[in-house]
Amino acid sequence: MMVKSQAIALKIRPWSRTSHVVTWLTPDHGRTLTSVKGACRPKSAFLGQYDVGATCELLFYARDRGGIHAIRECTPSEMREPLHVNWRAGTAASYFCDLTASVSVPMQEAQALFTLLSQSLDALCAQTPGTGHLLAFEIAMLDRLGILPDLARCPACHTPERDWLRFSLASGRLLCAHASASALLEPSITLHRDVVAALCDHLSPESALHFPHSGDIALGIRRFLGLFIRYHLDLPPAARQVAFDLIAEPHASGATSKP
Ligand SMILES: [Zn+2]
Repeated sequence: MMVKSQAIALKIRPWSRTSHVVTWLTPDHGRTLTSVKGACRPKSAFLGQYDVGATCELLFYARDRGGIHAIRECTPSEMREPLHVNWRAGTAASYFCDLTASVSVPMQEAQALFTLLSQSLDALCAQTPGTGHLLAFEIAMLDRLGILPDLARCPACHTPERDWLRFSLASGRLLCAHASASALLEPSITLHRDVVAALCDHLSPESALHFPHSGDIALGIRRFLGLFIRYHLDLPPAARQVAFDLIAEPHASGATSKP
């Protein structure tokens, strides 16, 4: 079956000496793998037609059983040039694409993820990203997947004098004396109440942009989302670590160069 679709390139891997296997996100067919034979040959029709973070109009032969499809045509509709010029934007785009590749599945409708990724990549082209952009994307992704953490505090147990609260990664909520016996045995982490409060204030993609960028609370938020994502999503922790380390503002990490 021939399929024509908008697609965002998520990953490009070399295949043999001259070919590529490209992982795409399409709105109707979810994560889609295509082989691009001879992609690296000087006269290839596909040369410069796609790159990570670009949106393309794709024509491919879809195999019934999934697997790797053969690409027929690829025309860029949005190359997003700033991602190749601004290294911070490029780093963030790679992370967004990695995260999307790890949560999307083949042959499944993925319109919400496609829209989120398109808009987030456009935003990276418009404004140099900071760590807030990474956290905002993660929160939006968790929201689309329906697994945003629930940070509602129990009025009886989570009283103001308690500084540290337990959070269950499995059930995605704060634990207290009223939780079931089995919930209390789930793997849990401790969160400082200030981190919980900051998260509660910013648990939407729009307000996540205004997360504190430095200090203990910023680190606490970053660590918490990292543990939560590692628990629920199949993402190599190193991919996230590298993105945050590269994007972290120099003044935030204290790494200012002295004359
Ligand atoms: Zn309680």
